[in-house]
Amino acid sequence: SALASSSHLSLPQTSALELDREHLIHPVSSWRAHEKRGATLLQSGKGAWLRDTEGHELLDAFAGLWCVNAGYGQESVVQAATEQMRKLPYATGYFHFGSEPAARLAAKLVDLAPPSLQHVYFTLSGSDAVEAAVRLIAQYNHARGQTQRRHFISLERGYHGSSFFGAGLTALPAFHRGFGLPLPEQHYIASPYAYRSAVGSDPLAIISASVAELRATVQQIGQDKVAAFFCEPVQGSGGVIVPPEGWLKAMRQACRELGILFVADEVITGFGRTGPMFACEAEGVDPDMMTMAKGLTSGYVPMGAMLMSDEIYQTIADGAPAGVPIGHGTTYSAHPVSAAVGLEVIRLYEEGGLLANGQAMAPHFARVLANLADHPLVGEARQRGLLGALELVSNKQTKARFDPALGLADRVFATGYRNGLVFRSFGDNILGFAPALCFTAEEFELMAARLRKTLDDVLDFADVRRAT
Ligand code: PMP
Repeated sequence: SALASSSHLSLPQTSALELDREHLIHPVSSWRAHEKRGATLLQSGKGAWLRDTEGHELLDAFAGLWCVNAGYGQESVVQAATEQMRKLPYATGYFHFGSEPAARLAAKLVDLAPPSLQHVYFTLSGSDAVEAAVRLIAQYNHARGQTQRRHFISLERGYHGSSFFGAGLTALPAFHRGFGLPLPEQHYIASPYAYRSAVGSDPLAIISASVAELRATVQQIGQDKVAAFFCEPVQGSGGVIVPPEGWLKAMRQACRELGILFVADEVITGFGRTGPMFACEAEGVDPDMMTMAKGLTSGYVPMGAMLMSDEIYQTIADGAPAGVPIGHGTTYSAHPVSAAVGLEVIRLYEEGGLLANGQAMAPHFARVLANLADHPLVGEARQRGLLGALELVSNKQTKARFDPALGLADRVFATGYRNGLVFRSFGDNILGFAPALCFTAEEFELMAARLRKTLDDVLDFADVRRAT
């Protein structure tokens, strides 16, 4: 009967929600809030579009978690994964085994990355790419007899994953509170945050302030004790903080002069997110190490990578006693299915025209955000390539933030969802956007309309009005 079949249909969904609430711990979430709210279960996706289990159609302006750069439902990626799984689902990298897709992908990344980077270690995520960088920097310093170089510098509001050491390079309070972080050897300098910078919004002033603070911090720690400076070319999880052009190059140059390693964390900015394949390319920056993940496989399967210069590689290799292994590795490093997916995803960026489409669409995206800068809630619109943000403020003159007790971030997110739009709503009322490289001009029009409606709806909330 109709009744029997409809209850049959709704049962699995109801139980999945309950099972989630009972048993599934969600990443970077308030556990109590999640128990109350429950999960929103996503069911399918195509291009820039998502559908949830209740049948809502959503325009995803955040590419999952700024990772599905190629968009959902790319059949050729599914095919590449299927073929590799059928042929050989797993090949260890231990005992000198390997696989063809892993070797080809390593070579492809070296080809695409800045010329300084020659060697690739594959990981499962951005966090363990950062962890690999930190551990192998220690090996490098051990090999060259500089084990006193234990100190690391990163940016305030920087994000470098949630491994133990990486969460200490991350400079966001939730990643430190109760974890015993940061460690004494982890230090932060101010972000190149034009909208709220102590030195004003002049690009040259921001760049020289960052360089000066890096130098001062290195001198204070002791120049021979600093291992590396880590940064994102555009800060993502800290609220999409876009530095002035020339900032990355200046920081790279300062590290060279200070004799410390420069590590570019391109986990978000890689694979066309800011325009070129990597953000370093835009300024001709040659890092000592680079971390990547997300767009590498477009989120279809997990994979990250850490690339290093030949100098670091040769020093580590020479420093190890003959036949003694360098004890860093995981079961799934260079997983052949992930590698096959990575190769196909990169083919879509290049030969499939996605990188070019992303570049062609960036002005549309920039207009969507810039046109909202005059909205009463918006303090600043900022963007590079297909990475951007609207910073909401309670007072445009003073740039005052809303009282977190208002719960505005959750409201904006829920209102956007009701209007058929997915984006990120940070706790300090920064809205983050990272549309897939396959977005069309029409989809940006729709995004603009849904976003304006969302901000207008939020403005109607009485308590928000009171606060403005
Ligand atoms: N570094 C950066 C710059 C990131 O944005 C992220 C994830 N958002 C990470 C590292 C960690 O990556 P993952 O979540 O895959 O561990």
